[in-house]
Amino acid sequence: MLKILVTEKISEVGLEVLRQDPEVDLQIRTGLSREELLAEVTDVDGMITRSGTPLDPGVLGAARRLRAAARAGVGLDNIDLAEASRRGVVIINAPTGNTLAATEHTMAMMLSLVRKVPQAFRSLTSGEWKRNLFLGRQLSGKKLLIIGLGRIGTQVALRCRAFGMEVSAFDPYISPSKAERAGVRLMEDLEGALSLAEVITLHVPLTTETRGMIDRKAIKACRQGAFMINCARGGLVDEGTCAEAIRSGHLAGAAFDVFDGEPPRSDNPLMAKDIRDRVILTPHIGANTEEAQSAVAAIACSNLLAALKGKPCENAVNLPFVKQSLPEGTRAFLSLARKLGFLAANLSRDPVTRIKVTLRGPLFSPADEPVCFEIPYHFSPFTVAGLKGFLEYSHGPEVNYMSAPLLAEDRGIRIEESRTCSGTWRNLVELELLSASSRDGISVSGTITEEGRQRVVNIGGYWIEFIPEGTVLLFSNHDRPGVIGKVGTLLGKVGTNIANFALGRRNGSGLAVGALQIDDDVPEPVVEELKKDVDLLWAVKVHFTEDL
Ligand code: NAD
Repeated sequence: MLKILVTEKISEVGLEVLRQDPEVDLQIRTGLSREELLAEVTDVDGMITRSGTPLDPGVLGAARRLRAAARAGVGLDNIDLAEASRRGVVIINAPTGNTLAATEHTMAMMLSLVRKVPQAFRSLTSGEWKRNLFLGRQLSGKKLLIIGLGRIGTQVALRCRAFGMEVSAFDPYISPSKAERAGVRLMEDLEGALSLAEVITLHVPLTTETRGMIDRKAIKACRQGAFMINCARGGLVDEGTCAEAIRSGHLAGAAFDVFDGEPPRSDNPLMAKDIRDRVILTPHIGANTEEAQSAVAAIACSNLLAALKGKPCENAVNLPFVKQSLPEGTRAFLSLARKLGFLAANLSRDPVTRIKVTLRGPLFSPADEPVCFEIPYHFSPFTVAGLKGFLEYSHGPEVNYMSAPLLAEDRGIRIEESRTCSGTWRNLVELELLSASSRDGISVSGTITEEGRQRVVNIGGYWIEFIPEGTVLLFSNHDRPGVIGKVGTLLGKVGTNIANFALGRRNGSGLAVGALQIDDDVPEPVVEELKKDVDLLWAVKVHFTEDL
């Protein structure tokens, strides 16, 4: 049975997904104190939360069996993602469930702002009938700037075009074709875009890059008389400067659903009395519709179940990729990259400070990668797999795809990833380990053959071909007659059967690299004897395992 703990009130639609599953032991415990929470989590496999349950190092440490936790919503401020990743806990959210709710709220705010609807309501219900106070503006024909053309930004674009607005967007991370499909002009320079727009609406996540992106300078760049709307995240706009700009008339008005610090304090500059006729504020209700709440709960619950059962799941924010959802050909390279990382770690002698991964060939074009947007690292699955293999050598098999990049970062290793076109092989993964103390790195590369078999094809510049399976004895020798015979004799003496043998030479070096696939293990003293008796430059025994 999978024990799933629900710690906050979520829609029945989501709970029904869990109730219907005969493998689920559903525990609903809302309003827990911290002590109660720490006691409840000790034996749960999965958790469903909203924003009120902290998944901090203390709780994650107590939840020893926890494998996945889902947030019925978008924000992950209450979850320590790095700690969850280190512990191998998959964190899931439901960013698609409230797209339309947030879009429609943005439209409500935009229309209310230009027609002063809340102010007119307030005036009317206070006994006034002052129609001339509420002279509004029309959206039709106005220039709209959407900052962040993601899910919500795109839906806002669609609706605003229907209102007859001229829509442009600033989003350096999307392709021009996406903007074109949305009927939107893509702007390259934020300040230039702000200077043209009559209505500005933000739809970006809060990241180190976007925090304070609408600062004093950006507000100064805005066109005189523009309207500013923020239904995305507090912290994107400098609220004080925005309020000042409204007061001075530089901005015509603002509508905010989100604040820098929620709930906002009563002295929040946007709440100042003297600008209330031009400001509209709502208490972060963008996602608050029945439909959105049902949708996020259903998405969170079904994805949590999928993750717990090892099936492909969407919106796993700390998984660099979902292995099961990769096409089979791609998955084979993932396993190969892990083995190359492990092989390179076996060959390395000095502390590694840099790992360079080069992905050659058409398979590695960015379009093939389902890499999640919110992860704190942006490497391809192959690089992450290479890191996992490399770290398994020193940290054991418990290193996982989530913790590998964080562990590498903790160790101060710089990761460089590049992609380029094919060379000798159609698709090739190259991995190079570099250290501060030596000039030459350790490089290894591998490919998948037409028949789908893994092959290591190069070690340190020596072309060689062997299958990274079972136990392989690798060595480097002076390229002169008799070496192979001596190695064979010595291994024969200890009863080790050689299943395969490959040799790689490099013209002019006078050296060679050999790879012996052996059926049984060779005791370490025998490897040492080989080194001495056969005069090998180095010899390393590598046990390749399959990924779990
Ligand atoms: P999304 O991830 O689909 O889109 C975000 C877009 O922002 C992406 O296209 C990305 O390329 C772009 N972006 C990132 N950094 C940028 C930068 N520096 N400059 C310009 N563009 C940048 O997200 P979404 O689902 O559309 O959500 C957008 C925002 O709305 C998020 O902040 C989300 O938290 C918020 N939201 C608020 C509510 C609410 O209750 N008010 C509800 C849902 C979502």
